[in-house]
Amino acid sequence: MTEILDAVRNGASGEVLASTPMPETTRAVFVRRDEQNMFEGMASADKDPRRSLHVDEVPLPELAPDEVYLAVMASSINFNTVWTSIFEPLSTFGFLDRLGKESDFGARHALDYHIVGSDASGVVLRTGGAVRNWKVGDHVTVHCNYVDDQDPSSHDDSMMGSNQRIWGFETNFGGLADICVVKANQLMPKPTHLSWEEAAVNALCSSTSYRMLVSPNGAPVTQGDTVLIWGASGGIGSFAVQYVLNAGATPVGVVSSEQKAAMLHELGCEHVINRKEKDYQFWSDPHTQNEAEWRRLGKDIRSLVGTDPDIVFEHPGRSTMGASVFVAKRGGTIVTCAATSGYMIEYDNRHLWMKLKTIKGSHFSNYREAWAANALLCEGKIVPPLSAVFTLDDVGEATYEMHHNRHEGKIGILCAAEKEGLGITNPELRARVGEDRLTIFRRYA
Ligand code: NAP
Repeated sequence: MTEILDAVRNGASGEVLASTPMPETTRAVFVRRDEQNMFEGMASADKDPRRSLHVDEVPLPELAPDEVYLAVMASSINFNTVWTSIFEPLSTFGFLDRLGKESDFGARHALDYHIVGSDASGVVLRTGGAVRNWKVGDHVTVHCNYVDDQDPSSHDDSMMGSNQRIWGFETNFGGLADICVVKANQLMPKPTHLSWEEAAVNALCSSTSYRMLVSPNGAPVTQGDTVLIWGASGGIGSFAVQYVLNAGATPVGVVSSEQKAAMLHELGCEHVINRKEKDYQFWSDPHTQNEAEWRRLGKDIRSLVGTDPDIVFEHPGRSTMGASVFVAKRGGTIVTCAATSGYMIEYDNRHLWMKLKTIKGSHFSNYREAWAANALLCEGKIVPPLSAVFTLDDVGEATYEMHHNRHEGKIGILCAAEKEGLGITNPELRARVGEDRLTIFRRYA
């Protein structure tokens, strides 16, 4: 056991932590450069994250002036860790090598192992000399927008930065570790009423959905809107449902099981379509789409809410995009941040231009948006969709579950935290938000 992690676990003050020595290594989850071709020629579904993700001690890098070392109490699995672990659509070592060429501190990242993970909740252990707003001992969560503040293009909306990166995916030293390295401008206050693992599963997905559906940079929802949400009980979808409800609009959630539908009902989403039960065949063969099936989905939505969706929250990609463009209302928007089932998209452009629809691309969020999303969590107005908790040693198994769509909501990972349920410092707020509401996804999983 590392002395400083023991001190964190025992609730040591910032002063005590500051005088406790930092270790030279940390336990971390990583993929290896010499294994980046290990799955060559295999089908995606057969590429097994349990083989490519390793857990071992690795050296801690030197700290840059604008960075902090963080004791990661908990982290989460995001789809980007699935992509890294199966080396699709490409190996992430290319990202590290490019970052490595930018500066001396950038060069720390270009290693033969890539520590993954893009979420964390934890305790600040050390701050670099340029860090102003955070101190040793602070309880924080981390958003994953890694911004170069010396690049002029970052200074309107940092997601427009020409070298904008996602921490733990396009950078090294990610959150699936006992100790990680983050820039000070990734830090946000930890919601006081949440446990470490509840606090760790939000920032990436919640901020992404916030930009897509709340921020003027996405397709902001207005009172009375109808919003079709694919994967409505998944990571980004479960936050999308909550943002739509908070906006006084109507979500229509699409899921693939009755259990997920029941979970969404409890979250407040009245209208749910079970795509498994409906058995939509949007593609009649790998090259041909089936407009009659798009029309059937449109009819199903109308029969539930009496109207077409103003906004479609899109991310499955190839399998659903044709249907999404078709079912959106005249003048409506399809907002997309991903393409899980394939990124070479096909849709019938006639339905887009004749009905004056818009396709809007969106990617993660800037610091302001992530901060606003975190503030809603801190107030209990958004709840974490934590459905399962694994240990750091079992990250391969957790990533495998996500790769095969065998999870709901978010999977939390215990890192330095020894057990679940720790880290709650505001039980009164927790009681006001309600234990039942905070545990919806765990109860149905
Ligand atoms: P997730 O937890 O796995 O949820 C996605 C859900 O989508 C699944 O639970 C599934 O729900 C549904 N789905 C999957 N394949 C589908 C298909 N072929 N047709 C219809 N529905 C399908 O993943 P997530 O964390 O929400 O992420 C979703 C995607 O967004 C991933 O590709 C991820 O990389 C991307 N993402 C992008 C950003 C960004 O900043 N650009 C941020 C976060 C995530 P049902 O089976 O219940 O229908």
